Amino acid sequence: MFSFALQVKNELARSPFTKRCCSLAEIKAFMQVNGSLEIGKNSRRILIPTEYASVARRLFILLKHVFKVTPGVLTCRKNRLQKKNSFLIQVSRKDDVSQILKELDFFPACRKTGATEFEVNRRPKGLKDVCCRRAYLRGVFLAGGSLTNPEREYHMEMVVPYESYAKEIARLLRFFGLEIRYFQRKGDFVLYLKGGEKIGDFLRIIAAHNGLLNFENIRVVKGVRNQINRLVNCETANLTKTIFASQDQIQNIRLIQETIGLENIPSSLREVAQLRLCYPEATLKELGDLAEPSLSKSSINHRFRRLNDLAGKIKKPEQGNLPH
Ligand SMILES: [Zn+2]
Repeated sequence: MFSFALQVKNELARSPFTKRCCSLAEIKAFMQVNGSLEIGKNSRRILIPTEYASVARRLFILLKHVFKVTPGVLTCRKNRLQKKNSFLIQVSRKDDVSQILKELDFFPACRKTGATEFEVNRRPKGLKDVCCRRAYLRGVFLAGGSLTNPEREYHMEMVVPYESYAKEIARLLRFFGLEIRYFQRKGDFVLYLKGGEKIGDFLRIIAAHNGLLNFENIRVVKGVRNQINRLVNCETANLTKTIFASQDQIQNIRLIQETIGLENIPSSLREVAQLRLCYPEATLKELGDLAEPSLSKSSINHRFRRLNDLAGKIKKPEQGNLPH
């Protein structure tokens, strides 16, 4: 099923693998958010489930790439009614499991607990570099994030199993200048963001560039009604201004016509006077384009000023001689 979250996850799942430090951070996020370590009598398995094929593929490549292991990928149908598959990435070779736990600094935590199945290390450690922080947050989103279709609502959440993770993720996001809150829901902790701007910032932090672009497009479309209203108001205002100016100009031209006669004023002034009478609603620029040869807005403006001066002198003839 198409969804905005799927679109963003697919994009993130295709993002390039860069440095080893970042790949480790991303795997760490997957294991902490969704992973579990299953301990049998003579075996240990790392299990990481995901609903997304693209995410399963990325995790497979990451593990292979970073640890040189070949994980198993199991497909499982949640129940008979549900058509959607989910995927289970598993690492079961003893040496592979030990290597991964050790490199991700999960080993000490695993030793302490004697449970048959338990979560991996509760505390995200390290992540000193900005690149790794981004990669870690990307992993958290890929593993436990969801995003409501922005056409409906601006809502993003990431579900993590422990409050300590939620706190740590909030701390990491604060580093990027983003405040995120969380609440408890059925034993999980849900970090959530509301509002277009914040979600846009988050997508920028985890470098979901196309997702961000689409998201911003939708925001623009949603906001476009307001913008159109603003534009319409703005144009009306300009038009009103033009019409008021034009009415004054026409009055002055009529006065000149009735007193001196348009044929008796300089041809440069006569031309714009006649144009104005023909096109009362035209802007100065439009009149300039209509003139032959065409004239700049400022020279049209200059000629109207001269016409207005002329009309002013007709109204108060004692102030000077009429030009010819
Ligand atoms: Zn890094």
